[in-house]
Amino acid sequence: MSILLGRVVIITGASSGIGEACALAFVSRGAKVVLAARRAQRLKLLVEKLGAAGGEALAVATDVTDEDAVAALFEQAMARFGRVDVLVNNAGIADSTPAEDTPLDLWRKVIDTNLTSAFLCARGAIPIMRAQGHGRIINVGSISAKVPRANSPAYTASKWGLDGLTRALAIDCRADNIAVSVFHPGIVATELGGGMSSLPDDLVARPEDAADVIVHMADLPDHLNFYEALVVQNKIP
Ligand code: NDP
Repeated sequence: MSILLGRVVIITGASSGIGEACALAFVSRGAKVVLAARRAQRLKLLVEKLGAAGGEALAVATDVTDEDAVAALFEQAMARFGRVDVLVNNAGIADSTPAEDTPLDLWRKVIDTNLTSAFLCARGAIPIMRAQGHGRIINVGSISAKVPRANSPAYTASKWGLDGLTRALAIDCRADNIAVSVFHPGIVATELGGGMSSLPDDLVARPEDAADVIVHMADLPDHLNFYEALVVQNKIP
């Protein structure tokens, strides 16, 4: 039986791609999910789909760069389910702009969406998880945190920052039995991935593949931390 049965999982960026696939995968293991993203209508449809599959889900329209909205996300999750066992910091945007062409607003948007959001959500989750006596935070990084892509300084910096945030939180949180880890996908066939790669879909990972890895990292006894996963496509044309 999955350790995730009955557990409550918050997934950011749940309205598409890897986050949506995660919602389906966690529910298939018996977890209850809280779905956060800006596109409320897509979240509503996903709640209906999960409900039809026998799952329990709460949609909370959230801009994860907004401090108050993130606070409201945790308040609503606690009001509905009374606990948060797993947080998946998955929301993100891509960017492929050379430094000299990057306006400061764009730099800030990428850093806020891909890095500051994870800090805000972790800050919301940690006191709840500490009080529960356990918790798990999984950050979705990128192969770009290992091998920088050309012409993507803001995206690359955001994902290296997220890698650093993971390391810092993992050390600080383990005494409270909160495991903090990072999953670095290679190219995944999503709205975001399609803009970063010209590889055909059958050569790259599917969102379901990425979700399988994330669920695997979460489906462990509390005393274990699957600290880091780097998954890249095997078949290169
Ligand atoms: P998608 O574009 O399909 O999903 C991105 C998700 O992030 C959407 O649900 C979007 O929802 C959400 N999001 C973006 N900005 C915000 C915001 N301000 N507030 C709340 N939610 C937000 O792409 P993926 O599934 O591919 O991306 C998921 C993660 O995987 C990202 O962190 C990405 O960097 C990472 N990744 C993806 C790779 C790939 O090849 N696909 C490779 C490496 C890493 P909405 O617009 O409704 O707010």
